[in-house]
Amino acid sequence: MKQGLWQCGQCRQWWIYKVQPHTERLNRECLRCGQRVRATIDRRPGRRGRPATVRVEQRPSYTPHSALEHERQARNKHWRRRPAIDEFTRASKLEEWQVGIE
Ligand SMILES: [Zn+2]
Repeated sequence: MKQGLWQCGQCRQWWIYKVQPHTERLNRECLRCGQRVRATIDRRPGRRGRPATVRVEQRPSYTPHSALEHERQARNKHWRRRPAIDEFTRASKLEEWQVGIE
């Protein structure tokens, strides 16, 4: 099983995901703002390219759910204290997404 945390690109909320080992793509809907999220689960660090609006962080399969939940809550507290991210990047990314949403 693969598991870890992902962050909604729209409202910046972190969520826990658990998928089958062969799953490469995450397809979720944010329970907070309803944003449809599609992301590739990629364990390679330091990937360059366009800034990722959706963040996916994988954790080892043996990590207990309570630990994931603890980290999720800690991260959700963390981003609320920080100033807004680059609004231009966010806006252009959102437009791109809306094209792909059925
Ligand atoms: Zn959201």
